[in-house]
Amino acid sequence: MLDIDAIRAEFPILSRELYGRPMTYLDNTATSQTPRRVVDIITDGYTRSKANVHRGVHTLSQEATKAQEDARRRVASWIGAESHEEVIFTRGTTEALNLVASSFGGMVLGEGDELILTVMEHHANIVPWQLLRSRLGFTIKVVPIDGEGRLDLDAYRALFNERTRLVSVCHASNVLGTVNPVKEMIAEAHAHGVPVVVDGAQAAPHIKIDVRDLDADFYAFSAHKMYGPTGIGVLYGKRGHLEKMPPYQGGGEMIEHVSFGHTTFAELPFKFEAGTPDFVGIPAIAGAIDFMDGIGIDAIAEHEHVLLRHATDRLVAEVPGLRIFGTAPEKCAIISFLIGDHHPYDVGMLLDKLGIEVRTGHHCAQPLMEYLGIEGTVRASFAVYNTIEEADRFVDAVKRVAMILG
Ligand code: PMP
Repeated sequence: MLDIDAIRAEFPILSRELYGRPMTYLDNTATSQTPRRVVDIITDGYTRSKANVHRGVHTLSQEATKAQEDARRRVASWIGAESHEEVIFTRGTTEALNLVASSFGGMVLGEGDELILTVMEHHANIVPWQLLRSRLGFTIKVVPIDGEGRLDLDAYRALFNERTRLVSVCHASNVLGTVNPVKEMIAEAHAHGVPVVVDGAQAAPHIKIDVRDLDADFYAFSAHKMYGPTGIGVLYGKRGHLEKMPPYQGGGEMIEHVSFGHTTFAELPFKFEAGTPDFVGIPAIAGAIDFMDGIGIDAIAEHEHVLLRHATDRLVAEVPGLRIFGTAPEKCAIISFLIGDHHPYDVGMLLDKLGIEVRTGHHCAQPLMEYLGIEGTVRASFAVYNTIEEADRFVDAVKRVAMILG
């Protein structure tokens, strides 16, 4: 059993009240809250040791550089990368996926080629590819889902042909919660000689990531969804790919030598890190990993699943007309739902007045919404600091809202 009170004590924001009620934060899929130890690292960075990295012989710069590069090593070992040089810091999953699309996609995709995505992708794993498609003229093929929100793996296998060049798939859906069998999917793609990009934004906070066990070619995630600072993400890439790829952006840090005639680029990972990085925030990622490791990712997932099962069972039994989107057996603690024909915004606004913070809308997955024939959903999502009492408060509030709306 986890000591949830002790865990919650690390998150001052969780003791807030809204409209005279305790705040129940259930929008963890959009961003999770940040424990004090992570905030302290950032505060320390600004108040004690702020200096630009890789730029100076002076002590402060050397300290800042060490803190950043230690964090890179921590991330690398946390995800099972062979080397810290395969870990590139970005602004988030979105920038990581744009980097892969632009740089690697630009290398391997051309006119007449095919890219495989799935219908449950976040816009961050759709639009960068569409931008590239408008330049290069390849085709995007899409894997459908079944009624429970699981990918149709037969359809996936059938999509491969001699023009397939790349697959990009989310490890877990931010709407349905479905955890995709990415290891199997990667093996299938590799059997066709096709590399795979994994959008791990929703997996990193809940699932042990082992990029080498998955054999992922690229893996992207965001720190702010895993108890870390906002504005920082990670792109893991296999060294063999990263070495061949052209830089994504140009500027300081990513060069070896610049002249007006010719420029040569820095070694990995700096070739992909143009400009001043968030050197204050990056060390805080290590703090977020320490926080998660201190509890244990399996214990985190188990606790969240208890909340998921409890809230789901009660919602299904007690709220007439409630539909849940995403009922796969392998799923993260996300409940996307609608009550009758009521607009998700109406439900979300009333829940907010009861102190329940949930997300409403299309969740940056409009193609999925179109596929499901709906405009959006209400989405509640759990993190390790949520409690059974909060799950009950949420269900009771949904019942009340259903009654108010009729
Ligand atoms: N992919 C998925 C599956 C997501 O849930 C999100 C965030 N909602 C993103 C990508 C984009 O992440 P970020 O906004 O942190 O770049």
